[in-house]
This record gives sequence, C-alpha cells and structure tokens, in this order.
Amino acid sequence: MYFCGPTVYQRAHIGNARPFALGMWLRAWLRRRGYDATLVHNITDINDKIYDAAPGASAELAQRATQWYLDDTRDLGLGMPDALPQATDAVPSIVAFIEKLVATGHAYDAGGDVYFSVATDPGYGRLSRQRLEHMEPEEENALKRAPQDFALWKATKPGEDTSWDSPWGKGRPGWHIECSVMAEDAFGPVFEIHGGGLDLVFPHHENELAQSLALGHDFARIWMHNGLLTRGGEKMSKSLGNDMTIRGVIDDWGREVALMLLLSGQWRKPLDFNQGTLEQARAQLETFRNVFRSPSEPVGDWAAFEAALDDDFNTPEALAVLHRWRDHELLRRAFAVFGLDSIAEAEEAPAEVVALAEQRREARAAKNFAEADRLREAIEAAGWQVRDVAEHPGFRLVRRS
Ligand SMILES: [Zn+2]
Repeated sequence: MYFCGPTVYQRAHIGNARPFALGMWLRAWLRRRGYDATLVHNITDINDKIYDAAPGASAELAQRATQWYLDDTRDLGLGMPDALPQATDAVPSIVAFIEKLVATGHAYDAGGDVYFSVATDPGYGRLSRQRLEHMEPEEENALKRAPQDFALWKATKPGEDTSWDSPWGKGRPGWHIECSVMAEDAFGPVFEIHGGGLDLVFPHHENELAQSLALGHDFARIWMHNGLLTRGGEKMSKSLGNDMTIRGVIDDWGREVALMLLLSGQWRKPLDFNQGTLEQARAQLETFRNVFRSPSEPVGDWAAFEAALDDDFNTPEALAVLHRWRDHELLRRAFAVFGLDSIAEAEEAPAEVVALAEQRREARAAKNFAEADRLREAIEAAGWQVRDVAEHPGFRLVRRS
C-alpha cells in the first residue's frame, strides 16, 4: 500500500491524520487476516508550497516540519508505516524516470522545464473521469504544447534555495512524479492499494497514473480515496482560519478521542471535526470504558466484527458491533486493531485517589514540586500509580502491580 503523505511546511493539519490512521488500521487488519501487508507513506519535502513558506530557507523548514509530522503521527499511538521515503532522497530515480518519458516521446524539455505531454495519452482523465477540455491547467508556460501538460521537472527560479543537476539543467522535480517514483522504488511498478485524500484524485493521482502507464506499466490495482474533514460543514483550511492541527487535537482532546472520531465515520465520506463531534467521541470512549469497569461477560461475536471490516473496512459498523459486546478479552483484541487497547486499562480509581491526582496536577501547574511529590507518595500508598499524559484530564491512574 502506498498512501500519499504531507507536503511538509507547517504543523500538519488534522486532515492528514485521516489517511495516516486509515493506512495504519488497514495494515493492522490485513495482517490479522493473514496478508503480507507493507505500508509506504511518503514525505513531500520538495514543493512550491515549501519554497513559498520559507524563501531562501526551504530545506531547513522542510526538515523541521518533517520531524513535526513524525512526532505528531507517532503520538497517535498507531505505530509507524514500514517506510517513509522523502522526495529529496529520490531525485536520481526521478531524473531516470523522466529521461525514459522524454526518450519515449511522452515528455519534452521546454526551456529547462520538462512537461508531460497529455496528448500522448489517449486515456488521460481516466481516473478523475474528466474530459481534457474541462481540466484546469496547472502551471503557465508559453512553451507548453497544451495547457493541460504538467511539469515533471521545474528549472530553478530565483529565491529557490535547493536544486539538483539534471540533463535539462538545474532544477527540481514536480510533485506528481515524486510519488510515481517513490511507489515504484518501494514496490516495483505494480502494487495493490494507493491511498490518499479525495482532493488528490486530480491532478495528483491522475498524473501519477498517466506517467506510469506511459512507460508501459500498470500501476495501483485499487485506489482508496478518503473523504475530507470539515469543520461545522465547511472545508477546513488555513486560509479560512478554521483548521486544526494533529498536535492541537492531541493536546486538547487526547489521541483516543481523535482516533474514536475518525473511526466513527465511513472512510469514503466527509467527516466533521467540531466541539460537538469531539465530545461525542469522548462520550463514546467513556461508554466503552464503563464496560471494562463492569464484570466481563461472555458476550461478543468476533465474526460480526470481522464481517464489518471485511465489508469495505466499515469502521462505524465495527464500532456498532463492539457496543454490543461485554467480553473484556474480546474487546481488548478488537481495540488493539485500532490502537485503542488503552481503553481497557480503565479500572476506576476511588474518588479520594482521583482527588489526590487532581491536587497533584494543580501543584505541578503551580510548580510546587515538593507538594506534587508528597501527593504522588500518598497516591502510591493507596495502591495506585499516577502517570502524566497529554490527554484529558492530564493524568492516568493505574493500579500498582
Ligand atoms: Zn502523492
């Protein structure tokens, strides 16, 4: 599986968490079902957006934002993809791929830029089901043979601080070719599942497909485009000022709430992230925790859970199945698929111990560490251990073993 990753120039948007989590959950599920599943998730660290965000210092920004993305996604607690290739490491393969497209007449040099000629691909538009005359041209260049031709290689412009040598002069790859090449480097030309947000169908995936087919390859067998996240029904975007970052949602709500909300929507459909839906996800977690606080009963049907996920990875249906279960061991096994087995750790501490933990949190916030230490000892004397966590309420109490 190849899931398109972020362009790294700022703290990643919560919208990036959806394909990430979907890829990780699907990998976990496919492995449990006996498939040999490998997930590759790329980091686009060469892109116009990065040059625009940090003129003259894009390489430093890309490096810093790559680390943010790795930290933020790791904190979702789902493990990491098998490989996270970066475009900057793939430039020699990208140049070789473009050379083949030029040699076969599918691409041409136009003053140091190299374009893919869509006229050489009679099926162009096959993925997004668009006719050529209705497509939005990407970049302007009077030397282009057709307005829909798209850049494979871009000559270095003033203010761009990174560049690579190529047969067409100094420059850097276009966005779409990065993914064709990184997918092929990882898997060979043909692989099973290509994922990414619905907004990537055109032009990004249409163009990846055209490039690979032009060399006589097949490409992905299955496309998996997830619906986008909205806020109050509106598209989430930085320019509208209504975006949320992965880091912000984890800090404010905790990773479990973020994951539960993502699971509650069918992956093809849009999903709204707002105060209300986040609160519902928190309430849903609490309902599951209550099951673990009650005695385990042998109520649960693994086949129903399996059927829900085998049917187009229907996670809301799978959650509906889990709500009917009372068997702690079975629930723990099911939640492990989603990185949420932490729900099972929720043996309830007595109210007086919770009160001590709350006092300790306040003491720490006031930097009264001596008092915080005293409260920790009191909690331990009562048979509990307190762990500091980013998520609400800021601590977790577990029974001392
Ligand atoms: Zn991509």
